[in-house]
Amino acid sequence: MIRKIFFLCIVSLAAYGQNDSLFLAEHLAMGNPNSAAANKNAPGNYLMVKRQFVHSYNRFLGIPNWVAWHTDSTWLGEIKRNNKFRPDSTLPEKWYHVHEGSYRLTGFDRGHMCPSADRTNTPTDNSATFLMTNMIPQAPNNNQGPWAALEIYCRELVKQGKELYIYCGGFGSQGFIDSGRVQIPETTWKTILVLDAGDHDLLRITPSTRTIAVVMPNNNVLIAKNSDWRMFRVSIDSVEALTGYDFFGKLPRKVQSAIESVVDTQ
Ligand code: MN
Ligand code: MN
Repeated sequence: MIRKIFFLCIVSLAAYGQNDSLFLAEHLAMGNPNSAAANKNAPGNYLMVKRQFVHSYNRFLGIPNWVAWHTDSTWLGEIKRNNKFRPDSTLPEKWYHVHEGSYRLTGFDRGHMCPSADRTNTPTDNSATFLMTNMIPQAPNNNQGPWAALEIYCRELVKQGKELYIYCGGFGSQGFIDSGRVQIPETTWKTILVLDAGDHDLLRITPSTRTIAVVMPNNNVLIAKNSDWRMFRVSIDSVEALTGYDFFGKLPRKVQSAIESVVDTQ
C-alpha cells in the first residue's frame, strides 16, 4: 500500500511537475469534478494547471468545461485589471487557439470564469485571468449583472475573513461563434464552498458548512442586468445533475450529501 502511494506520487510529479502539484493541491483540493487529465488524446476534457487556477479545457467547444480556484486574502491586492485578452500558449501547439478577436461583434462578452478581481495580488497573477481559455461567451446581462454581483459578494466574504473554493462553467448550447469554434453555453453555473480562513481546510468541513450554487440563463432576454443573484440559487446537487460533474468529491459522501442538497438562504 505504501509502495503504491509512493508510486502514485512519483507519477503525478512526473506528469505535472512539482509546481503544478502545488497548484493542483490548492485549487483542486476539493476534487476534480470529471477526472480531467493532461492528456492530449482526450481533448474534450484536457486538464490545464496554472498557479492562478486549474481548468478542464474542451478543444471541441473552444471553452473550459469548468474552472476551479481557491480565493483567500492572499490573492487579493491592489493590482489593476490587466485587460490583455490573449490566446493561451500552454495549449497543445496544434490545437486552435481562441484569441482576443474570437468574440468580436458577436454580442457576447469575453466572460472570465476565474475573475480578474479575484487575482489582484501581482501583475502576473492578474494577467493570467485574461487568457482566452478562462473565458466563455457570456450574455452582457448575465456577465455584467447578477454574475458580477455574485463575484463581488464572494470577495466581500473573503474580506470578512472567509476563504472560498469555487467551480464554474457553462452548460448547454445556443450555437457557436468564431466560425463554429467557440460554443455559446445556454446557462452559466457556479458552486462555492465557504470556510472561515484557516488551515487544513478539508478537515474543517462539516455537514453544516455553507455552500452557494447558482444557475443563470446566458441570454439577455431571459435575465435582467439588475436581477438579484440570489434569485438564481439552487443546490449543488442540481448543478451536479445538470452537468454530470461531481463537485467537492474529496469530501466524505455523508458531508457531500448534507452540503450539496441545501439551497443557500443567507
Ligand atoms: Mn465577468
Ligand atoms: Mn459532490
